[in-house]
Amino acid sequence: MIPITKPMLGENEAEAARRVILSGWTSQGPEVVAFEREFAEYVGAPHACAVSSCTTALHLALLAVGVLPGDEVITVSHSFIATANVIRYCGATPVFVDIEPDTFNLDPTQLESAVTDRTRAILCVHQIGMPCDLAEIIEIARRHSLPVVEDAACAIGSEIFWQGQWEKIGKPQGDVACFSFHPRKVISTGDGGMITTANPEWDAKFRLLRQHGMSVPDTVRHGSSQVIFESYPIVGYNYRMTDIQAAVGREQLKRLPGIVEKRRDLAARYKKLLAEIPGVGLPVEPDWARSTWQSFCVRLPLGKDQRRVMQSMLDAGIATRRGIMCSHREDAYPVDSWSCAGRNQECSCAVGFCRKLRHSQEAQEKTIILPLFPQMDIEQQDYVVKSLFGALRD
Ligand SMILES: *Cc1c(COP(=O)(O)O)cnc(C)c1O
Repeated sequence: MIPITKPMLGENEAEAARRVILSGWTSQGPEVVAFEREFAEYVGAPHACAVSSCTTALHLALLAVGVLPGDEVITVSHSFIATANVIRYCGATPVFVDIEPDTFNLDPTQLESAVTDRTRAILCVHQIGMPCDLAEIIEIARRHSLPVVEDAACAIGSEIFWQGQWEKIGKPQGDVACFSFHPRKVISTGDGGMITTANPEWDAKFRLLRQHGMSVPDTVRHGSSQVIFESYPIVGYNYRMTDIQAAVGREQLKRLPGIVEKRRDLAARYKKLLAEIPGVGLPVEPDWARSTWQSFCVRLPLGKDQRRVMQSMLDAGIATRRGIMCSHREDAYPVDSWSCAGRNQECSCAVGFCRKLRHSQEAQEKTIILPLFPQMDIEQQDYVVKSLFGALRD
């Protein structure tokens, strides 16, 4: 069986977890501090704050930039559902903009028409590791004085050509970037997330909110020779990462350059091999972007049934996934819980269908994700391509 992905965890990670367990301090502590410092260095960010997941990272990011109940946040429906959910955690309304069909990322030409006087932020996504068009998005955001939060869940190691040089996603080019360490992503701590920003006040807010709004972290109380009474100026959350996770994350960071390189080699090879299959649409990487290829998503030839192709692959022992979901098509998103750019009386927006989100819906139905993981060998990749070729001939 060829899986869709496989986290690259080994003895080094096991040893790191063991070291922390035997140290006697397992919750947020010195390992988290070190992981934050090393992650910040890797992406080139002034501040990095570790949390329990990318979902909680995104929630804190929206709170920090000032999203309040009744506000609108512009984003894409075509993403993992957490992207839209965090907007609703804040009591705000997601306003969905369609994607570009070839990059699966937010179409910046649709962005401006989604801005209203209730818009409080833009939440863009580097979908499956492909940097979105930040230059265009940020220019429009600046024009309207809107902060840009980047959902970079899958983009640890992605790069963008920015002001004359290649930079890592997460520097951040926007205002805040959020990453995931779920096993389906590029590197993993089991679960976990990271928030990067250049704004020291927001960074301080993340640190307060992730630990119950507690004025003095328990590490400080623990290490103090004076008695300290903490206070709780605001309502916070428990969104902490543990030191066990952080120690694993530090080992994963060491592997990261090799992982990204391998993923890029495999993606390039997929592109070359799949170009031979008539009608298969290949993912497009703009010349200013370098993806991590967290997922390799191909468009099926016209008239091919997604489920049948996927079943045929599964019968051949190959796991695939359908294209990225659309949040507005889920029952958790009744029509009054979201909006789309310029929705009006004539619109027939409904659960399952929105004519303004045509490319999002089409990408969900007409694409499939092929296995890609750093341990994959050339024989396995050849077999995937051969099996897809066979599945499409049926
Ligand atoms: C996976 C993912 C998330 C959620 O990440 P968690 O760490 O599992 O909370 C959010 N956004 C996108 C685009 C994702 O792919």
